[in-house]
Amino acid sequence: MEIAANGAIAAAYFVIPLTLLPLLRTTKRDLWLNLLLLILFIFSCGIGHTLSALHMHSALWHWVTAGISWAAVAALLSSQTRLRYLGETFSLLEATWDQALTGKVLCERTGDDLKVLKLNPAAAAITKNLLRPGDRLCEKMPFHQQQVYPYEVPLIDLYFAALDSGEPKRLEYQYKGEISGWYMTLVTPLSPELLYMTFTEVSGVIHDPLTGLYNRRVLEMELGNWEVCLFIDLDRFKLINDQRGHFLGDELLKAIAEVLQDFAQRYSGVAVRNGGDEFLLLLPASDADATEPCPTPAAIAEDVLNEILAIEVEGASISASIGVASGTIDAFQEDVPINRLQQAAETALREAKRNRRSNLPQHRIQVWNSNLARRRLRQITLEAYLAQRSSELEFWLAYQPICQMETGAIVGAEALIRWDSARLGRVSPSEFIPVAEATGLVHRISDWVLCHALEQLAQWQEISPQFNLSVNISPLELEDDDFLDRILQRVSGAGIASHHFGIEITERGIYSNLERYLQSLQGMRDMSLRLKVDDFGMGQSGLAQLLQFRFDEVKVDRYFIPTNAQNLEKVAICRAIANLADGIHFDLVAEGIEHADQRRLMLELNYNYGQGYLFSRPMTAQNLTTLLREGRGLGVG
Ligand code: C2E
Ligand code: MG
Ligand code: MG
Repeated sequence: MEIAANGAIAAAYFVIPLTLLPLLRTTKRDLWLNLLLLILFIFSCGIGHTLSALHMHSALWHWVTAGISWAAVAALLSSQTRLRYLGETFSLLEATWDQALTGKVLCERTGDDLKVLKLNPAAAAITKNLLRPGDRLCEKMPFHQQQVYPYEVPLIDLYFAALDSGEPKRLEYQYKGEISGWYMTLVTPLSPELLYMTFTEVSGVIHDPLTGLYNRRVLEMELGNWEVCLFIDLDRFKLINDQRGHFLGDELLKAIAEVLQDFAQRYSGVAVRNGGDEFLLLLPASDADATEPCPTPAAIAEDVLNEILAIEVEGASISASIGVASGTIDAFQEDVPINRLQQAAETALREAKRNRRSNLPQHRIQVWNSNLARRRLRQITLEAYLAQRSSELEFWLAYQPICQMETGAIVGAEALIRWDSARLGRVSPSEFIPVAEATGLVHRISDWVLCHALEQLAQWQEISPQFNLSVNISPLELEDDDFLDRILQRVSGAGIASHHFGIEITERGIYSNLERYLQSLQGMRDMSLRLKVDDFGMGQSGLAQLLQFRFDEVKVDRYFIPTNAQNLEKVAICRAIANLADGIHFDLVAEGIEHADQRRLMLELNYNYGQGYLFSRPMTAQNLTTLLREGRGLGVG
């Protein structure tokens, strides 16, 4: 009986290892030895049992079994942690391993070198197959210890520093061996023994040849965790370039780069030339253990500005404006923190430029704050809702009459877009048009306005053939390639007399494509549309624009309309514009006439047409139709 039981146990001891044998072929290399020892152990137990069942007691065999079992125990124990790390790491990396464009290498520390355990196809390609699993990294690429920019740290030290600190380290370095070039690597320790590196070739891609700083491509790479971004933009650099020549401009840029590089080194950051006369200074979080307290980002910005102001090249100096952002920024949808930081700093910079109160250095620096954040969040919301096609259902056009100043007779109207958003309530065009301009949505919106306004004009011309209607067109539109085709198509399909259709354009003074802009104006003139300068006086180059291109009509901004005759400056300006209109022949409209006194005053100043609350507020098409049918004047008497 006992023999049968022992025999049954022994049989199991033989069968179990047999079922495990096929696993040896499929298992990962790191598990193979453990499995083999386990199989041998069970097998030897089986032999031991068989011998006892046959009453052939063998002390020698027991020693063999004991030996194998302890070897298995030792192998299992020693590989425990390593196996756990390997298992986790492999599953983590497997997902992104093969397709990645970035080279990825998993290394194991062996003495003073690193053994390559695994590398992805991109890493093999980048290193031109120099690296293979099993290679010793530092032996294979001895020139790793090349000069490192901007900090002179040999690459190998960096590996060990990363291993010791347990934190990722980023480095860009030059390798001058068989695969010469600039590389960028991010070294992440996974365990005391394991290291994960990404590997990108960046030769010639991330450096600005003029200043030697990084260029903005560097922001796309897997960089460290920057906490602070200073966005630096030179003031009136174009003027220096134009007046004093590009050579001097270049020298100034180099001098500024030097200042920024100094700061980058002082605070362990990087300096980037963003393009043209824009620079970025990215700094890490201030070191909590530092003996000296680190200055605030704003204080650093002030130091940077002071050093820039102190630069002098051939008697020329330059000033700059700086936007500052630090910490976590939620106000931008960008998924990469560095981009959010940069955009916040840039927004702050634009604010600094716009709200410049004086030339004092502190007014040239703007720190990203909760106000800017709130405004930015509102913009994002508007952007998101505007982008939905359904927003078009929430648009409608209001029409504000333009009247003869003397009689109040309606001579035309201006179409003003209204957006009654289901979720945001009424949003003013002054708020959403700039957002639409910034996102390119303005093209769609103005097409919508054109269609509806033209349709309406066709109806009104049946009641009053001399009636004029104008729409507002963003000056950005005029720089769009398809603009002329679009407007031609709309106007010719509308069945209206085109010289009664007006296009109001505000002067911007800043054109990214002036030639295209003037071409569009000329194109509209050829279509005999009525061209109007809107909000005259508020832009930057009103007069220059008037001289450059003949407009049919100028609408003087309500800011310049005097409230009474004692308002001497405004009266003088309006009189000067009226003289100009007389000289170069354009019609004048005074905007924002609210009181009878203003109407009388402007009439005396030879303004024949007016628009404003005195005559009428913007109204629905239906109400204006009624007024046109009645044919009476507004706001007079
Ligand atoms: P704008 O073209 O100068 O239009 C005149 C603005 O002044 C309108 O504001 C009008 O309601 C307001 N206004 C008229 N008379 C008076 C007055 O007596 N007193 C005061 N305080 N204000 C008066 P609104 O409709 O809010 O439009 C603001 C701006 O939005 C417009 O200025 C125009 O630049 C832009 N806009 C409006 N509709 C469109 C559009 O369809 N396309 C584009 N691109 N821009 C538009
Ligand atoms: Mg207008
Ligand atoms: Mg206006």
